[in-house]
Amino acid sequence: MCFDFSEKIRTVSNFPHEGIQFIDITTLLKDGNAFHMAIDSLAKVFQDKDIDIVVGPEARGFAVGAPVAYALGAGFVPVRKPGKLPAETLRLEYSLEYGKDVLEIHKDAIEPGNKVLIVDDLLATGGTTLATVKMVEILGGKVVGLAFLIELEFLHGRQVLPGYDITSLVKYS
Ligand code: AMP
Repeated sequence: MCFDFSEKIRTVSNFPHEGIQFIDITTLLKDGNAFHMAIDSLAKVFQDKDIDIVVGPEARGFAVGAPVAYALGAGFVPVRKPGKLPAETLRLEYSLEYGKDVLEIHKDAIEPGNKVLIVDDLLATGGTTLATVKMVEILGGKVVGLAFLIELEFLHGRQVLPGYDITSLVKYS
């Protein structure tokens, strides 16, 4: 399968702040053929890895992670901003370039020994993914892979995630 997913992704300058180049995947998601192929391409990489659970961070991790989970016959677990999950949660505070952020996951979402694939739309500095990896591992899950539609290689997210099996469909260097 050879498909140029980059043609379906739009870059919006100065959103949400001056100086940010926002990578907009809504243009890919609305194209049924491109969306289908993107999900199948990510799922294919991990189809023989016996994935139990796909974990996706809010919010675009839901749009990509849930269909990957479905394609793999795996469950889906959301990671959310604070105060959104109804049952008992594990909270993890992590550093951003400026300031801090917090993510939560249900404490009973992962069984010890579960094989977990973490999926998000985009790997930038790796902070969001690293926080998600830590939460999965605290709950006893085994992180089998990390999958993204897009990787901003110039932000070196892979460097904060050494030893993990990382897949991305479109790389911006
Ligand atoms: P990071 O934690 O720096 O790897 O950032 C990854 C998260 O932030 C992902 O959930 C992305 O959706 C979002 N993100 C970071 N940078 C961008 C960008 N330039 N365009 C769109 N989303 C971004």
